[in-house]
Amino acid sequence: MGIIWGKETEDGYAPSWWHRRMKPAITGNEINGLGEKEKRRPTPVYHRQDWWHPWRWVQEAFYGRIALYMPAFMCFIKSNILDAREPVPIAAKPVPGTPHEWTERIRQKAEALGVSDVRVVRITEDLIFDRDTIPEKYAIILASQMRYEKIHKSTERKFRPSLLEAMQVYLQGNVKAKKLANWLREQGYDARGFGTPMGTPLNIVHAAQRGGMGQLGKHGSLIHAEFGPMFRMAYVLTDLPLIVDEPVDIAVDDFCKLCQLCTKACPPGAIFNEKQWVRGELKWYVDFDKCVPYFNENMGCGICLAVCPYGQPGVSETLIDKMLRRRERDSQLAG
Ligand code: SF4
Ligand code: SF4
Repeated sequence: MGIIWGKETEDGYAPSWWHRRMKPAITGNEINGLGEKEKRRPTPVYHRQDWWHPWRWVQEAFYGRIALYMPAFMCFIKSNILDAREPVPIAAKPVPGTPHEWTERIRQKAEALGVSDVRVVRITEDLIFDRDTIPEKYAIILASQMRYEKIHKSTERKFRPSLLEAMQVYLQGNVKAKKLANWLREQGYDARGFGTPMGTPLNIVHAAQRGGMGQLGKHGSLIHAEFGPMFRMAYVLTDLPLIVDEPVDIAVDDFCKLCQLCTKACPPGAIFNEKQWVRGELKWYVDFDKCVPYFNENMGCGICLAVCPYGQPGVSETLIDKMLRRRERDSQLAG
């Protein structure tokens, strides 16, 4: 164990002295609700600017460390957190349209902005972090694809290209969300755009899953039917009535039960091979307290995404088709 750099060991990863000193008394897994069988709203554990947050200084140290090595990263922070893109005034006379028409128009506009997939979700309290409020009724979730070849560099322990790719896609997602929100305001409807990962009131992974953007993989990221885990999200909140999307079952669970690529590749051994109880739900879970020190001290990580077969170009659809056919065959044999 070094003073400011940790070390990979046979048992996983030994965080640096510095990281151990900074760690707050409450663990990330406690905040996340690991082991809790009662349902409750999510509590933000990371990617927040709130002064009260126990993990705030660990997070700030991560950004400070990155800024030393990649000054361009500061541009990302400035753009994403202090984004100066102001909301435009809402047009006095709303453009008419049915929920179907507006949902379609939004999809077309998002596509024109370079969004890879769009899902609409009705907001319920369980999707909002417990210290936050969201007055709007709908979230329009925007996925933007990441380049596999950049993320795959992390398997060679080259973390900068994958971190930069993720950050660039986060930043672009933020801009797209704000542009889409402003376009809706010009049509006469109130809307707010949010980028991730910093400081947003919506639990985006849960919301996106509910809207059928994908299914949760063992590595804790959503797996999309077309581009696997190779995407990042942003969103727009609005009261404009829209047609909501449904969750999908693309048999990710079936494959994850057979596969251990991410669990074996994760240097600190943070990925549970079995589902865990988290806030009243049995689900795939990543041990926050093992993942974050490694992530922070290595300029991001993403190895689990890079090794996931669903992320390889063109593989996700084939794998889903195969698993669904296998499931049907098994149920016919059982029946
Ligand atoms: S990002 Fe994935 S592979 Fe890297 S430490 Fe976290 S869980 Fe493990
Ligand atoms: S690497 Fe394998 S186990 Fe991990 S999420 Fe991808 S498919 Fe599931």
